Amino acid sequence: MILFLNVLLQVIQMEGQGLVDEVTSGLAVTASVACDAASLLPQYHVQELFQESFGQGGEVGCLGATANPKKEKPKHGKGKHKEVGKDVVFEFACSKESNLGKVGQECGVRVIRLCKEDIDLEDAQSIEQLISQVSALKGCSIHCSIECKPRSQWQHLNRAKNPRKEQEDSAALVEQFIRVANICLDTGGDCSFEWPRFCTGWALPAIQSWILRKNLHSATFNGCTVGVEADGQPAKKPWRFITSSLRLAKNLAASKCMHSKHTPLQGKWTRMSAFYPRPLCQLTMSSLFPHVVDRHVFSIPCVARSRQSHRPKLVKGYQSVPLDVLMAETGCHAIPTPAFVHKLLDRSEWTGHPEALKAIANEARATGKKK
Ligand SMILES: [Zn+2]
Repeated sequence: MILFLNVLLQVIQMEGQGLVDEVTSGLAVTASVACDAASLLPQYHVQELFQESFGQGGEVGCLGATANPKKEKPKHGKGKHKEVGKDVVFEFACSKESNLGKVGQECGVRVIRLCKEDIDLEDAQSIEQLISQVSALKGCSIHCSIECKPRSQWQHLNRAKNPRKEQEDSAALVEQFIRVANICLDTGGDCSFEWPRFCTGWALPAIQSWILRKNLHSATFNGCTVGVEADGQPAKKPWRFITSSLRLAKNLAASKCMHSKHTPLQGKWTRMSAFYPRPLCQLTMSSLFPHVVDRHVFSIPCVARSRQSHRPKLVKGYQSVPLDVLMAETGCHAIPTPAFVHKLLDRSEWTGHPEALKAIANEARATGKKK
């Protein structure tokens, strides 16, 4: 076991990566997961759990990487914005009303929910049908929402009645997800997968060897930084995301917890925490689909600078409120606000239009920059 942990530490040093709230990739993810387990379980137990994983791919990858470190990263998801599936993401094993679907719709990403009400993901024929659809939608992405039950956490492993059986049950579904996700990766899309950070499922050989094969990235962070709450208070929920998108991994890992206190996730709040909070969905969408979400930019009018004096307090000791704010507070929302959202246009879209050229000339004249 000492040798085993030494190898893990060597891997981490070789990659120059830390383990807490950091992005790790490929072999360092395996090491990170094993170290998480080692922080809660006896060493012999960790060795037993990871022997199979390392036997199936980790050990080979580890020796290979040590002998010939490979720094080149695969270009997952590059150029997908030009493909037919550029704005499509499949949500694997989600709820019918998932927040990812709602947020996706709001920001122009088409989310196809693969929920149990519509498709049996344990049925081989359904998976084949899904694979043919995904293959036809080049550049599409996939996110996995398979549930990891609270009892299957490292700290509960010894108390669980039949943890191996539970792992085997979810392993079959995970393997189907990986089959579909590989099609997405091969046709230019991205994939992502999440479970609580200390979920025993991370030790599944299928997941470990997939991470190594595809050199996927991992981000660890606390759910409170992306909106997880219990009873209105921030709840910690340590989380791990695996993804092919380095941008998504970096953005997730950049979420730093600043709370001094957390409410424990218990009872109904544990169940509720399985639903992604909206800030997490927004971060995921803007990281995976910047070419869709950031298509519009805010624009506010430029006006000549003028000196403005401080608004005097009309009644001593009383903070006077501007009229427009007063009106808004009374429910009068019909105040014209000089702000716009502009759509960015290609040069080819406006050069042939006299009205567009005239509008540009007018704007230049108004800002005093006309030549
Ligand atoms: Zn926090």
